[in-house]
Amino acid sequence: MTTPAIGVLALQGDVREHLAALEAAGAEARTVRRPEELAGVDGLVIPGGESTTISKLATAFGLMEPLRERVRSGMPAYGSCAGMIMLADKILDPRSGQETVGGIDMIVRRNAFGRQNESFEASVDVAGVGGGPVEGVFIRAPWVESTGADVEVLAVFEAHPVAVRQGSLLATAFHPELTGDHRVHRLFTGMVRSAAR
Ligand code: GLN
Repeated sequence: MTTPAIGVLALQGDVREHLAALEAAGAEARTVRRPEELAGVDGLVIPGGESTTISKLATAFGLMEPLRERVRSGMPAYGSCAGMIMLADKILDPRSGQETVGGIDMIVRRNAFGRQNESFEASVDVAGVGGGPVEGVFIRAPWVESTGADVEVLAVFEAHPVAVRQGSLLATAFHPELTGDHRVHRLFTGMVRSAAR
C-alpha cells in the first residue's frame, strides 16, 4: 500500500489539524462520522478535544460498537489527549456514563496535568521518533497511571508515561498535531502501512 487512507474521528475536537498533519505525513486523510466511513479507512486518529463529548457523540452516532469492533480486529488507531483517553481500557475520574473504545491495557487519569497547570509545552523524547525531542503541547492533559505488560512506554514526563504503544495502537497525552512537526503522524502512518501489508 503506498498511500494509506487514514480517518480522523470527526465528532468533536481538533480534527482539521490532524487531517493536515496526516496529509503532510503521506496519508490520504478523511473525516469519519458514520460507520460506513469507518469501514473504509485503513487506520483512525481520535483527536484531542473533550473525551466526555466525543464519548457521548460516538454513542449517539452509533459508532461506539463499530469502533470497538475495528480496534479489536486490529485496525491501527492513534489517540492524542482526549483520544488517548478514548483508547484506554480504564479511566480514572470519568464523567458519569463516560465510555471508552479501549484497546490499550492502561489506566489513564483525566485532566491529570491540568490540575497543576491548564496548559504548557515541554520537550519530550519519544522512542521510535528520531531527530530529537518532540515539542509536546499539553492542554488539560491526561497522564497514564499504570500500564499492562503488553504496553510499551514511549515517553515519560514528570515520572508519568505520556506516550504509549500496544501493537498497532498509539496514544500521546500531548498534541503533536498543533506544532507543525509531523514525526508522530509519520510514525503512525508507518504503523498503518505495515499493518496493511
Ligand atoms: N481533558 C480533556 C478530556 O478529558 C482532554 C483535553 C484535550 O484533549 N486537550 O477529554
